[in-house]
Amino acid sequence: MKKPSNEMKLIFPSLSENERLARVAVGGFISSKNPRMDELSDVKTAVSEAVTNCIVHAYRDTVGLIELTARLTEDGVYIKIRDRGCGIEDVKKAMEPLFTTLPDEERSGLGFSVMESFTDSISVKSKPGSGTTVVMVKKLRSRI
Ligand code: ATP
Ligand code: MG
Repeated sequence: MKKPSNEMKLIFPSLSENERLARVAVGGFISSKNPRMDELSDVKTAVSEAVTNCIVHAYRDTVGLIELTARLTEDGVYIKIRDRGCGIEDVKKAMEPLFTTLPDEERSGLGFSVMESFTDSISVKSKPGSGTTVVMVKKLRSRI
């Protein structure tokens, strides 16, 4: 019988301390794959950027729920981070390096660029008023 792939779902409020929770949870989740240190750190950083965006942009001036799904695949990990916040008007523009809607709050507009370069693929779907879903896939080459 084929072994089912491992999966986890985490739902948490958009409080800043939960950025760390998401990093640690995903790091722990992929540890059974024995990822290399650089891969582990890439995944945690990408998750951290996506979750931070939910906290500071999607639920700006409010607190809402963030849903994180992670699934181990044959050769890596699939991660989905979803919010039901304000959404993004123009996703293509938002993903351009250095684009930010919060320049006065020391945001550099590099979150999506980091997610893009630290994973193997990223897809962003968003609807103003309904929220945003970020899906990232990262290949993991086992250390052993
Ligand atoms: P940095 O990540 O460098 O601190 P930033 O968050 O502004 O700056 P990105 O993470 O690249 O940069 O995001 C670009 C822009 O996309 C944001 O300024 C924001 O307008 C929009 N955005 C990103 N994620 C979301 C989200 N989940 N909900 C609503 N808007 C978002
Ligand atoms: Mg960001």
